[in-house]
Amino acid sequence: MSRGYAIGRVVVIGAAALEVSHYRVAPEDVDAECARLQAAIATARDELAQMASDLPADVPRELGAFLQVHSMILADSMISVEPVEIIRTRHYNAEWALTAQGQALGEQFAMMDDEYMRERGNDIRQVIERILHALAGTDSKRTWRESTLTEHSDPLIVVAHDISPADMLKLRGGRFAAFATDLGGGTSHTAIVARSMGVPAVVALGSARSLMRDGDTVIVDGEAGVLLVNPAPRVLDEYRRRQSDYALERADLATLKDVPAITLDGVEITLCANIELPEEAQAAADAGADGIGLFRSEFLFMGRDTLPDEDEQYEAYAMVVRTLGGKTVTIRTLDIGADKTLDGEATVATNPALGQRAIRYCLARPELFATQLRAILRASVHGKVQILIPMIAHLREVRAAYAAIASARRDLDARGVAYATDIEVGAMVEVPAVAIAIEPFIEAFDFLSIGTNDLIQYTLAIDRTDPDVDALYDPLHPAVLRLIANSINAGARAGKRVSVCGEMAGDTELTRLLLGLGLTHFSMHPTQLLDVKREILAAHSNALRAKVATVLNRAAEMDLTLLNR
Ligand code: PEP
Ligand code: MG
Repeated sequence: MSRGYAIGRVVVIGAAALEVSHYRVAPEDVDAECARLQAAIATARDELAQMASDLPADVPRELGAFLQVHSMILADSMISVEPVEIIRTRHYNAEWALTAQGQALGEQFAMMDDEYMRERGNDIRQVIERILHALAGTDSKRTWRESTLTEHSDPLIVVAHDISPADMLKLRGGRFAAFATDLGGGTSHTAIVARSMGVPAVVALGSARSLMRDGDTVIVDGEAGVLLVNPAPRVLDEYRRRQSDYALERADLATLKDVPAITLDGVEITLCANIELPEEAQAAADAGADGIGLFRSEFLFMGRDTLPDEDEQYEAYAMVVRTLGGKTVTIRTLDIGADKTLDGEATVATNPALGQRAIRYCLARPELFATQLRAILRASVHGKVQILIPMIAHLREVRAAYAAIASARRDLDARGVAYATDIEVGAMVEVPAVAIAIEPFIEAFDFLSIGTNDLIQYTLAIDRTDPDVDALYDPLHPAVLRLIANSINAGARAGKRVSVCGEMAGDTELTRLLLGLGLTHFSMHPTQLLDVKREILAAHSNALRAKVATVLNRAAEMDLTLLNR
């Protein structure tokens, strides 16, 4: 779930539809857009006619019949007329109008009793793909990232069965007002990207996608985690009021930007930001973050055909380092695997969350890892950089990671390229084994950062992306709290920094609990930073520590009301 309220019109999106651009055309361009679609339909018709006339005499008869079916579908008004109507009435661009119609037809055909008719759904999809292909040759070259919504149009709210983290990145530039998905968990990377966009999102809705139609009015209540479809005018008025109260509250919070985060009893707290893409570094600086506590570098690698080379990565890291102007930037090495996959790389693991993910993936691909490490080292000349290794579980991985860093340094030395020599190296505590047997890991690294999202997933045996077990995903489970406490205490004993950079760090309901566990370093989405700071300013750290210790010692379920002021 991502906080806030949005009121707008539904855009139902299927996986295929994500590949095309979506934008509203200005009223004066509607005729030209209709003509663009009609021209593409004509091109598809000509192609089919050409293929039919070129068919050699000895091909199986089915092939000719198949081309005929496609020509008939193309001529039918459901394809040749209705998408054009959608452009006229809703001002969608041609690709969007066509895929919206394709989706509606696909659903109708899938529900038919007759198997022959159900099969025709596939033919329709293929015909639509042919027209989309023809459209790609025309002059609309806009992508999600570049697409803009016309100023006066209603905000658009994306409703989808599921959105992968990579697709979420594509949607980021489209200026959507909110997201709602049937699948996903509260700490899935889809939800995390939505949160970083600062727009409300509700996941794990079950069947929202099939209950809603394009153009429905919907309220997304990210505070309660619900959607209200075609609400009554009174309900709309109430939510408009809540929306403006929320905006006022946000404006009020902005005054805390330059206030240091110190508890009532004088404990200084460091508040850093999590980012997924270099562009977000500015939002972190604007929120007054003390640095970047987690740069999820894998998002630079996702949703694209080729991997970024050393120079491209260097530019991206250097941009973040420069934007932060001397504050620490913690770059996490590639955490590919589980729900974050590279384009075109199918996973063969039966359970990818337990498979070759993160440091395991990198150590199995030394060249890829070396390229990233060189890029990170090079960026260190522009400010203060730290390296963070994800999903460490074994000491031999620690040794291999250090060896890879040393080798990257030697490569740069040989090339005569400069880098800072005092870069700190840390590791994520997200595999329970590390949180339990923490001492050697504390000793091996300069700092540790607790990834509560995965720590909870692996401790409680709950897939963080599976909506069926979302309710069992419990940060307050005594075992989870003990692992966090153990990690923080070991850090304090060794005089080393231990932070939390999982979603728990940005949840204001848990701020007092984390302070009570002795946490002094938090990292979260820039949009959450000032809310958490407000909680810290009103908290008494020592009093909370005593209360939390009592509960932990009893191994009781944590009751947050005990920590109330
Ligand atoms: C975590 O696991 O808590 C974490 C911060 O990393 P990610 O969410 O990217 O897995
Ligand atoms: Mg993690």
